[in-house]
Amino acid sequence: MQVEYFQVSNTGESRQRSRVYRCEGIVIRRRDFGEADRLVTVLTDDHGKVRALAKGSRRTKSRLGGHLEPYARVRLMLARGRNLDIITSAQVLEPMTHLRREERSILYASHWSEIADQLMAESEQNRFGYGVLVRALTSLELGRDPVITSRICEWEFLAASGFQPELFQCTGCGRQIEPGGNGMHIEAGGVVCPQCHALDPLSRAISNDALRVLRAIGRGDGGLLYDRQLNDDLLKEIEQLLIGYLRSVIERDLQAWQILSSLEDGTTWGTPGH
Ligand SMILES: [Zn+2]
Repeated sequence: MQVEYFQVSNTGESRQRSRVYRCEGIVIRRRDFGEADRLVTVLTDDHGKVRALAKGSRRTKSRLGGHLEPYARVRLMLARGRNLDIITSAQVLEPMTHLRREERSILYASHWSEIADQLMAESEQNRFGYGVLVRALTSLELGRDPVITSRICEWEFLAASGFQPELFQCTGCGRQIEPGGNGMHIEAGGVVCPQCHALDPLSRAISNDALRVLRAIGRGDGGLLYDRQLNDDLLKEIEQLLIGYLRSVIERDLQAWQILSSLEDGTTWGTPGH
């Protein structure tokens, strides 16, 4: 049976078919390529991050052109190529037109796309990671607070790539974390108890409220935060912890966040020791 299968599938026609695959995805990056083509990076539901060529998509009459806008949710058909896959057809499922009208929304979408691009693996299915981006962009499209959405999205991308910070046991000595006097040690991968915090200059203090908010996001209750009145200091603390953590994992600056952050409050923040 097995032999027959290989004999049948080894015809030229079948080989051709197996080169083609379909998926749903979100365009996270796009740049011009050659005379009329575009190189498009898509975060997909079944194939992780995919870099593919959209041939002729910059021509005004292109069938692909209008269907590959940044942050749009699309259905794609692709053909595997030797170096790059080729997008053979694209259909818009969710245009996300509202979020593309405002600079602040575009910057948030661009920030999340940058994190996705850095943390999601190529051609490796990660449905959770795909869902993180879909939920974040949909929240933005619906006009929900992008600051809260961004913190949820940042945490969930860390979780989707296996880098979520430890929040319950001290990463220094293993002791269970109790409220009060704790630290967040980015390089060690999570919280430290008051004793370990006092001994390590790289540990930053973390407030009980920030720890509670991160734990809520970690157990999937981030959606509850939209209805809470979180004060600016607490939001800033959580942002600094998550951005510091992401920068340490990605090992580079987050470009969209730097612009966003300077627009939001006129300051940028550095990771300790960097
Ligand atoms: Zn400890």
